[in-house]
Amino acid sequence: DGLIWLDGEMVPWREAKVHVLTHTLHYGMGVFEGVRAYNTESDGTAIFRLKEHTDRLFRSAHILGMNMPFDKDALNAAQKAVVRENNLEEAYLRPMCFYGSEGMGLRADNLQTHVMVAAWEWPSYMSPEAKELGIKVRTSSYTRHHVNITMCKAKANGNYINSMLALKEALDCGCEEALLLDNEGYVAEGSGENFFLVYKDTIYTPELTSCLDGITRGTIFELAAELGYTIKEKRITRDEVYVADEAFFTGTAAEVLPIRELDGRIIGSGKRGPITEKLQSMYFDAVKGRRPQ
Ligand code: PLP
Repeated sequence: DGLIWLDGEMVPWREAKVHVLTHTLHYGMGVFEGVRAYNTESDGTAIFRLKEHTDRLFRSAHILGMNMPFDKDALNAAQKAVVRENNLEEAYLRPMCFYGSEGMGLRADNLQTHVMVAAWEWPSYMSPEAKELGIKVRTSSYTRHHVNITMCKAKANGNYINSMLALKEALDCGCEEALLLDNEGYVAEGSGENFFLVYKDTIYTPELTSCLDGITRGTIFELAAELGYTIKEKRITRDEVYVADEAFFTGTAAEVLPIRELDGRIIGSGKRGPITEKLQSMYFDAVKGRRPQ
């Protein structure tokens, strides 16, 4: 039940359908966002970093050369409306732009871009214990090969095949998340999260050549700076993760998620580390409106 915003109108959830010949269903080209609204202490329900998410959606569409039939203000208003009209206090939002069923074949310049925004309650991506105790992660046999220097800025549907295969492989092995490497074997990111490690009081994260330019990643840079840390972007090898003092993932869905084990090797104390804990609590304060934005 509920309403979905589709091409400028609110449509009942069950009627927000696409045709089987929808181009994006066949060829995978589309762009999307994952956004969260939190019930904040300062302003009631508010969408965290809405502007940044909408900006990235437009950048993603621009990179893929997709026409955007709406402007940013319209998309921001649509996201707010979907949360409001579905009476959601906290929500996960999914804006997506896709090609319709107006034609087949690989050419897309003659196709219309459709835009939709859905929202639903999805309070916790992982169990509450995972946020405290950390998760078990497995290095994936799938690489983040779709991501090259230009595609890191795009959150594009077609980039997710390997992420899904990697996550399935990790779950099949009894882990909770996958760590994907880039083509050269350096750490890239999780299936839907950016990666950080702490070693000897320094925080490191991969450069933006093999991972998505995450909005949570950006927030962590700001919060770490407040704590007096400058995060170093560098190529990270697998064994550097094994010997790290702390490691964690970040993402809109996963928020700040400690990693306690990679490939059966315990990381640091095997628990959420002190810097991770501090950044995690600052992040929750930020999304909950308990600190200035
Ligand atoms: N990396 C990938 C592949 C993702 O899909 C996501 C999720 O959007 C992230 C990283 C984290 O990005 P953000 O913090 O903007 O949600």
